[in-house]
Formats: sequence, C-alpha cells, structure tokens
Amino acid sequence: MKSFDTSIRLAFFALFVFLTIQGKMTLWLLLFALSLPAAALFGRLYCGYVCPIHTVMRPVSTLSSRRGWQESSAPRFLSNKALPWAALAISVTATVIARRTFQLTLPLLPFWIAAGALTALFFRPEVFHNRICPFGVLQKIFGRFARSARQVDPAACIRCGLCEKACQTDAVHLSGAGGTAEIDAASCHQCRDCTAVCPVKAIAKRKRNARQ
Ligand code: SF4
Ligand code: SF4
Repeated sequence: MKSFDTSIRLAFFALFVFLTIQGKMTLWLLLFALSLPAAALFGRLYCGYVCPIHTVMRPVSTLSSRRGWQESSAPRFLSNKALPWAALAISVTATVIARRTFQLTLPLLPFWIAAGALTALFFRPEVFHNRICPFGVLQKIFGRFARSARQVDPAACIRCGLCEKACQTDAVHLSGAGGTAEIDAASCHQCRDCTAVCPVKAIAKRKRNARQ
C-alpha cells in the first residue's frame, strides 16, 4: 500500500517538474482547479497524492522526526486562522502583478515547496498543512463536503490511538462516541497512513451521509 501510494506521488511530482520546465504551469493550476470539486466528492485526494509540496514534505518530516528536530508546539502567531488566507491573497496578488507589470512568471509552487519543507524540518507537518498552506485552505472548504472519505468504524475501534499518531494532518482524534477515533473530512488528505497502522482494520473509505 505504502509503495503504491509513493509511486503515485512520485509520478505526479515528475509531471509537476516536467510542466514547470516546459513553462506550462497553467496546466497544473487547471489540475488544481479541477481537484476542488473533486474534493467535494472524494475528499482531498489532491493534497494526499498530487500536491508536490506534500510529496517533498513527507520524507523531510520523517527525517526530522527521527532526528528529533521537530518542536512539540508551534509559535503562537501560527495559530492565527487568517494566515493561510493571507498567504493565498499575497500569492495571487504577487503572481498577477509580476505577470502584468514585468511579464514574469513567479515560481510560486517551488516557493511553497521550500516553505513546506522548511516548516516540516522544525514542526510537525500539520503546522504547514493546516495553518500556512494557501492551497490547503481552499481544499478544506470542499473537502468538508466529501461524499466519500476515510472513516472509522466505531464498533471495530479499540481506541489505541495509533491512527492519531500516524496522521500528518491532525485530522483524526479519539473524540468519537466512547473515545473511539473520528476523522475530520475537512482536514483529511485521504492518505491512508491511519489505515496502514490500524491493528483492527477499522478505517476505510466509506460513503458519508449529508449530515456528517
Ligand atoms: S486521517 Fe488518515 S487518511 Fe486522513 S490525513 Fe490522517 S492519516 Fe491520512
Ligand atoms: S488505529 Fe484503529 S483501533 Fe486504533 S484508535 Fe485508530 S481507528 Fe481505533
């Protein structure tokens, strides 16, 4: 499961590099735009498998976590909920000004890849995913309505908390009925890390009803 998921991420990363070299970033932005309504159907698959920022952050985070470089808490200013919206507004404004005034294409995604990797060196990856990423904030809006998404079967869950520790986006907590695990579809990247560690196979992709 893990190597298959990694192969998908690397294939999309190769596509991203190819389009960047060819100067066809508009196609990548189109892919991102299409991923938003797709997130309302299938969850944030773009974040979990397509996004080059996430693909680079995963090994960086694994390394820094093993070396003990990641702080347990993030600076207070990163708690400001307006931060990812400000990052989005600045990114869009800078891109438009550079294009219209100087006929320049800003390396926006490479910049955010570097920012994500740097953040993952010193903090758990959810700090970037949930509090900084200007693309994630849009994915979150659509992801919360996902008709099909990773969910926990509360009858099977033994409340071990392994999924909570494995999740890179802080999307799963032991907050369900009787202390069972529960996944927040808005934050979930559908990455299957939790499914892989669950000892009783309680987590799977399931249909959600309209009230969830
Ligand atoms: S809840 Fe599971 S599938 Fe969703 S982001 Fe966390 S580890 Fe990945
Ligand atoms: S890993 Fe599985 S059994 Fe353990 S808390 Fe998560 S869903 Fe429940």
